[in-house]
Amino acid sequence: MEKRIWLSLAHMSGHELDFIIEAFNTNWVVPLGPNVDAFEVDLENFQKADRHVVALNSGTSALHLGLILLGVKPDDEVICQSFTFAASANPIAYVGAKPVFIDSEKDTWNMDPVLLEIAIKDRLEKTGKLAKAIIPVHLYGMPAKMKEINAIADKYKIPVLEDSAEALGSKLCNQMCGTFGELAALSFNGNKMITTSGGGALVCRNEEEAKLARFYATQARDIAPYYQHSHIGYNYRMSNICAGIGRGQMLVLQDHIDRRRAIHKLYTQLLSNVKGISIMQNPSSEWNSNFWLTCILIDPNVAGVSRETVRLRLDVANIETRMLWKPMHLQPVFENYPYYGNGICEYLFERGLCLPSGPTLTNDDIFRVVDNIKKMCKKAKRITTVQPYKMVAG
Ligand SMILES: *Cc1c(COP(=O)(O)O)cnc(C)c1O
Repeated sequence: MEKRIWLSLAHMSGHELDFIIEAFNTNWVVPLGPNVDAFEVDLENFQKADRHVVALNSGTSALHLGLILLGVKPDDEVICQSFTFAASANPIAYVGAKPVFIDSEKDTWNMDPVLLEIAIKDRLEKTGKLAKAIIPVHLYGMPAKMKEINAIADKYKIPVLEDSAEALGSKLCNQMCGTFGELAALSFNGNKMITTSGGGALVCRNEEEAKLARFYATQARDIAPYYQHSHIGYNYRMSNICAGIGRGQMLVLQDHIDRRRAIHKLYTQLLSNVKGISIMQNPSSEWNSNFWLTCILIDPNVAGVSRETVRLRLDVANIETRMLWKPMHLQPVFENYPYYGNGICEYLFERGLCLPSGPTLTNDDIFRVVDNIKKMCKKAKRITTVQPYKMVAG
């Protein structure tokens, strides 16, 4: 049996241990300390915008604190991209608010600005209130249409909380993802662009917001000689050990981005002549995805094989792939919330597959993945299909 090719494995620079050992030697084995401070500065410098970063124990807690900072309260509505991982939407429930799900557009697979405005107007009409926040996601590293989304958000004065968990290093019009929203969440979970074993960060526009985030993240202690609390707090700060891993990872972040982009490019070249298979691409030169994962769409009528067959046969060939995220409006836990759709993310979910894309992947691994895919598609029939569109209003 050939060795297993994994979807996305973490890769260590080797320097992570130096920072961890330093933390041990200086007895900073706590959820704050020099590594946390330095990791935050590293991230601020990397984002190349005047932002203030607060390191936290997960991307999910970053989104949760983001909603708290934006003043989202029980029974408020928060507009969220449907095509995403559940961690984008769960924090809406943590604060007792209601999600309103928006479908994707076909260029970036992210929040459709046209549907966003339709939803804002329709919810205003139905509830008499504007949504309290908008959560667009840069899925698989592909920047959402932030110019259009921000223009609509500004028009209705609704703040944007950007879910940039998968998009560290992605750029739109030469601006880093994570710097478009009022606030943004980053993730350093095991298989993201960099890892701290588990961790995340909230990107803030000013130091006051960052201070408030740190306050809530450390149990909301009032300034007093005893433990006094006037607010509900959380235990969300990043540990100094994890931040040490993060500092080591920052040394190879640009290499990881370059490698993932090169992997995407090689897949694109090798699969270009396979009928019925298309690869997610930057829609124009304004987009520069980090290509966290390379995603393909399989048209079963043209390729002669279904996405599911490809996935299962690759698994037998010891190659790990993954379906695209199952949309939130199709999740049993969220099925009763409003959804404004056009069928695009359901279409993507039915046909999409994430290919192995981690920085440790070799070119030979990629050749093996592609050879296996090509073998299955040999008997391709050439039928053009019409993509089904349907309009569903919340
Ligand atoms: C990973 C991820 C999150 C959550 O980050 P964690 O650090 O795992 O809590 C949120 N949104 C998206 C789109 C993600 O991929």
